[in-house]
Amino acid sequence: MTEANTIADGSVVTMHYKLALDDGQVVDSSEGNDPLAYLHGSGNIVPGLESAMNGKQVGDKFDVAVKPEEGYGTRHEEAVQTVPRGMFPPDAQLEAGIQFQATDEEQRPVMGTIKEVADETVTVDFNHPLAGHVLNFSIEIVEIRVATEEEKAHGHVHGPGGHDH
Ligand code: ZN
Repeated sequence: MTEANTIADGSVVTMHYKLALDDGQVVDSSEGNDPLAYLHGSGNIVPGLESAMNGKQVGDKFDVAVKPEEGYGTRHEEAVQTVPRGMFPPDAQLEAGIQFQATDEEQRPVMGTIKEVADETVTVDFNHPLAGHVLNFSIEIVEIRVATEEEKAHGHVHGPGGHDH
């Protein structure tokens, strides 16, 4: 493994992170867990955070507020849809607030959140749960190394904090 001092495309970055919304609610954090590893420059993390990571070094601690446009996007009201109950498997738990994964017309994974359940229909919000939110990240860079050729080819990190296959 090669050491690299500064984050650039092709760096494997290991970091501790905390993600809070503007109201202070912490929605994700590595606190108490292993740090997260990601491959820089491959779109593994939201664009606003990835660009803020550029040039950072081991030991750096910083906060960054990522706008929705550079985070999980803005909200689209047309993404709130009422669909027949039969679109869900018979044993699916249908309750407001439950999140599930589905695929869109192009077979891309999309996240849905159930808003309302009626006799015949279910209202689903296909906006990302964090769409429309400013993402307040607190980051601490733990380790930086150069990605292996295999990791670059796969577009993700192997080993601790990354993919295992
Ligand atoms: Zn892989």
